[in-house]
Amino acid sequence: SKPGPTVIIVGAGMSGISAAKTLSEAGIKNLLILEATGRIGGRIHKTEFAGVNVETGASWVEGVNGQELNPIWNLARKLKLRTFFSDFENISANVYQQVNGLYDATVVQAALDRAVNVSKAAAVFSEALPPSGLEDISVLTFQRLQKHVPSTALDMVIDYSNHDGEFGEPPRVTSLQNTEPIPTFTNFGEDLYQVADPRGYESVVHELAHQFLGFDAKGTITDPRIKLNKVVNRIEYSRSGVIVETEDGSTYKSDYVMVSTSIGVLQTSLIKFEPDLPTWKILAIYQFSMAVYTRIFLKFPYKFWPSGNGTEYFLYASDRRGYYPIWQHVEYEYPGSNILIVTVSDEESRRIEQQPDSTTKDETMEVLRNMFGENIPEPTDILVPRWWSNRFYRGTYSNWPIGVSRYEFDQIRAPVGRVYFTGEHTSQPYSGYVHGAYLAGIDSALMMVGCIKYGSCDVQIEPKA
Ligand code: FAD
Repeated sequence: SKPGPTVIIVGAGMSGISAAKTLSEAGIKNLLILEATGRIGGRIHKTEFAGVNVETGASWVEGVNGQELNPIWNLARKLKLRTFFSDFENISANVYQQVNGLYDATVVQAALDRAVNVSKAAAVFSEALPPSGLEDISVLTFQRLQKHVPSTALDMVIDYSNHDGEFGEPPRVTSLQNTEPIPTFTNFGEDLYQVADPRGYESVVHELAHQFLGFDAKGTITDPRIKLNKVVNRIEYSRSGVIVETEDGSTYKSDYVMVSTSIGVLQTSLIKFEPDLPTWKILAIYQFSMAVYTRIFLKFPYKFWPSGNGTEYFLYASDRRGYYPIWQHVEYEYPGSNILIVTVSDEESRRIEQQPDSTTKDETMEVLRNMFGENIPEPTDILVPRWWSNRFYRGTYSNWPIGVSRYEFDQIRAPVGRVYFTGEHTSQPYSGYVHGAYLAGIDSALMMVGCIKYGSCDVQIEPKA
């Protein structure tokens, strides 16, 4: 029998593995997955810290307990991953002033209610916009229309946690139409579950990989169709095929290629396309946002923060918006570990990535002393993930910015001849999420299957009215 077409998949994160599995199931098995790093999983990454496996990349299954079943939740349940419901209900009792301790909970609740009302109005406004996205506005523009521009420390930290804490970028940047409401929560449910499992969240990617790649008795993937530590730096494409080159000088020929690297990577020159990608494609890629969202891990000799029900999440309201704002203790997830996690994003993430960890430690200690007083111990360990500096990621996940229509969004995913694209940034409803990456992998692979099997290769991106 004929060997069938060959496909190279660039990247072994969730979307690349999902795409490869879909191709394999469609009978396209002459695959070669080239992954730059030494592991499978990409932005889902467990890391040992202070004796436990923490998640430096994705950590929640977002969108649970709704009308539709989130496919990632399905996988997590199948694997019996240890997961923890994230309870934000009591947050009004856990917001700290810049100095002088907690705010009065009723004051916080009033501020939360104002923000919720604006968000509800935003959803109504958003549904009435034309689907093209051409009349989209930023989240901030809508806040202005509502005469709700958060400017006090309290309003700013609530605003931060509602927007930046989810999208990694501020309301000034973020598209209203694509975030109010958030399809992840309307379709899959409002709940979030944090993964804290010794096998890591990345085991969902391994689970998919094991469904179509060969592995040994220990479960280690030994299939020659996946090669690790292969950094693709050149893709030459023509009407008849593709040549993919890696930094170590290897050359691979194939009929098609599926590029699954982050949009942050596509915005750099790590992979040189020959000929250059067409202008419409380059513009679409460069217009989208790659956000930076950082969870910093701090290990303490003992705990000095409140514990028990309704204490896990707490906020720090600085005059400087986004300054070490969201805190979490993880004593349910990692009992007795005395780990605190603080979240920053965007400019703060970039600033912090560039400074020594000792400086970051000092800054967090100043904030913690403002919240809990002078008599608290120094952390014995700190972990600062650096996704933005990493040339294989250049950020953490995409965020839909104001100014990108639905048509332009579709152009990001559209194939260019034999070069196909996937990744979380290509999922229209679920960009930015693990389930977005998973579903995008399936969608892009099916597009390729349509071309290979049924000859429908000219994927037309229709301008949407
Ligand atoms: P990637 O995982 O980036 O996969 C692409 C692969 O390509 C990588 O393995 C990369 O190493 C490889 N690669 C890059 N360049 C090359 C090259 N030149 N040659 C070969 N290989 C290359 N989502 C959620 O649902 N819930 C969360 O709580 C959540 N939190 C997050 C927190 C952080 C800090 C981060 C980083 C992400 C978070 N996300 C979360 C988003 C989620 O992790 C991503 O949407 C998803 O994992 C992206 O998968 P992907 O396959 O699109 O991309």
